[in-house]
Amino acid sequence: MRFVANFKMNHTRASTQEYIQELNAHLEGVDSGNVLLFPPATALCEASGKIDIGAQNAYFEINGAFTGEIGLEQLGEFGIKKILIGHSERREILGESQEFIAKKFEFFKANGFEIIYCIGEPLSVREQGQEALFEYLFSEFDGIDTSYDNFTIAYEPIWAIGTGVSATIEDIELVHNRLKAQFNKELLYGGSVKVDNIADIAKIDSVDGVLVGSASLKAGGFAELIKKGLIA
Ligand code: PEP
Repeated sequence: MRFVANFKMNHTRASTQEYIQELNAHLEGVDSGNVLLFPPATALCEASGKIDIGAQNAYFEINGAFTGEIGLEQLGEFGIKKILIGHSERREILGESQEFIAKKFEFFKANGFEIIYCIGEPLSVREQGQEALFEYLFSEFDGIDTSYDNFTIAYEPIWAIGTGVSATIEDIELVHNRLKAQFNKELLYGGSVKVDNIADIAKIDSVDGVLVGSASLKAGGFAELIKKGLIA
């Protein structure tokens, strides 16, 4: 079971370092390779103790004239080899198109990164029924080489992100079972995962891990979530 924390635009460099120290102190007995943190770009650092570090975003070049972006060179300074691609906030707020996302995927694939690739539908699509739901979700794989080995899928229904209301166990099973059958990849669920619901979510066979936003922001709370997920 993998536990992935997405800080989004929260925490500073200093508070991320404190967080890593505190979380590591809670992780005795947890196997290495199961906890991954995506801090903001200004707080990127090397992996430490049981905590691996990934990038929430980067541009698909080594370096160059891409104002405001970071690329392979900046990630390399910290030995970072994991990246989040396709998050709904980048698709919706930052306007990343499927074509742009696919270019990012190709570049980081060519550089051997583990890609945590996010997909998820808005409520308006979910309300149209299963056919529309899967048509939408599968369209988010356009241009993506799903045969790439080092690739994990995160299913994050947009209506469940940051709302405090997670998808139901049945909702998660429906989508994860279909994704497992189609792609046979590691599958994370994301969308209001918290201490109160992790035990039920972790018991779902086709859930291999969770991607957690709000409930990952405090080290003590995330440590509790990890412990409950591991004993579920
Ligand atoms: C996310 O945006 O990746 C996420 C899962 O957020 P939250 O846990 O806050 O719903």
